[in-house]
Amino acid sequence: MLLIQFAEGQSRYIATFSSYARQFLGNMERPDVDKITGLSPVISIEQKTVNKNPRSTVGTTTEIYDFLRLLYARAATAYSYNSGEKMVKYSTLKILELIFDSFSNKKVYVLAPLVQGRKGHYKELFEQIMKKGFLHARINGEIKELSYNIKLDRYKSHNIELVVDKLVVDQVDEKRVKDSLDIAMKHGKGIMMLLDFETGKVRYFSKKLMCPTSGLSYNEPAPHTFSFNSPHGACPQCSGLGVINEVDIKKIIPDDSLSIRNGGIKPLGKYRQSLIFCQIEAIVHKHKCTLNTPISELPHAALNTLMYGSSEMFTMITAPLGMVSNHFMNFEGINTYLLKLSETDTETEQELEGSGSEASLFKKATCPECGGKRLKKESLHFKIDNKNISDLSDMDIQSLYNWFLKINDFLEDKEKKIASEIIKEIQARIKFLLDVGLHYLSLNRNSKTLSGGESQRIRLATQIGSQLVNVLYILDEPSIGLHQRDNDRLIDALKS
Ligand SMILES: [Zn+2]
Repeated sequence: MLLIQFAEGQSRYIATFSSYARQFLGNMERPDVDKITGLSPVISIEQKTVNKNPRSTVGTTTEIYDFLRLLYARAATAYSYNSGEKMVKYSTLKILELIFDSFSNKKVYVLAPLVQGRKGHYKELFEQIMKKGFLHARINGEIKELSYNIKLDRYKSHNIELVVDKLVVDQVDEKRVKDSLDIAMKHGKGIMMLLDFETGKVRYFSKKLMCPTSGLSYNEPAPHTFSFNSPHGACPQCSGLGVINEVDIKKIIPDDSLSIRNGGIKPLGKYRQSLIFCQIEAIVHKHKCTLNTPISELPHAALNTLMYGSSEMFTMITAPLGMVSNHFMNFEGINTYLLKLSETDTETEQELEGSGSEASLFKKATCPECGGKRLKKESLHFKIDNKNISDLSDMDIQSLYNWFLKINDFLEDKEKKIASEIIKEIQARIKFLLDVGLHYLSLNRNSKTLSGGESQRIRLATQIGSQLVNVLYILDEPSIGLHQRDNDRLIDALKS
């Protein structure tokens, strides 16, 4: 009977689609009934693990993680990942007050940070700021007069600050201090610095979240800051998956008594004229070895560079086409080389794997950047009760529920007010998971590792959480995997 109701519900639902959309759905037979009256919308929840997506977790499926993201964007406290200090954020008025407090009658440079630890020659940047009438910049800690032929080493990282003004902090000339501050804030995109002329010490001031000692700044947090499925939140190295593919060195070099020339690096085979071998040759030469040296006798540093690359420059003596010339290059490493090959070309992967061994050359490893936490460093430094959003996702549902009962103790009054509705929603949804007997799961549990029964109960809890009314749910054998007690609770939850 239930299945007939479901079939009828489904065909009525599909009847609401346009004929264009219906053609993609194939022919849906109407159930063989004369009449059904008072049929509610029907949702069938089957016992199967449907989601194979590695990005889907208990937290995302139940939407609890979405509410946690909202909570962290609104109510979490930011800490600097450089110094561990609480990040600060000031208004212009407050900054002015701080400046007069600590720099009164001192001679200072007012600086606007333009480049922080980035590579490039910055010729255009210098031209632009000169056109705007500025005469000096602080380049890598040194104040320099600007000229049209100034150019930096493009392969090195630089720190560049614009010198906006040089002045004595004096109440009499408060307007000048204020004007310079405004200009510096504008060019520094919300951040400025004061350089004490006498001591050479620098202090940062910011209208954005900023570390008071290192000047590190964060963007205003938004829900996507905490999403591992968004480029705004995901760890850049593993793109939010928490794991990376790594070359299994034992399979790459199964016999280290062989030399590289004799095929010691198995997926590359024996020596031939190609760019990768020229690069490898340049590296071993730099370590005073040759391609004939057995791999076991290569210095550790050489092997490390070969596997994982280096930003150092090497001189290539033999160019790929057999010509002799001097080339400079930096090397990405055999690890990255093989990964890129396998990503761009499946045939190569099969070829590589075939020549490697029976199993894949790659193994899954925890991402070294985020430690498997999936989020970028900045996102992991927003905390409530000294816990970041990933710590909460690691907790089992029961502990998480208990923690949320006490959450108001960890929040300031203002945050409590902002977050109260979100907290209620999260508490209710966690409660549904407890009600269906899933107290032992955690939010970061991958959906594809769940059993069919667990998956079904999670979808059911999500449905209850969505608070639809007058819906008919059809479950296949709901008692499988559910204790009688959970069953009763479930029915109670559905009734309410
Ligand atoms: Zn990562």
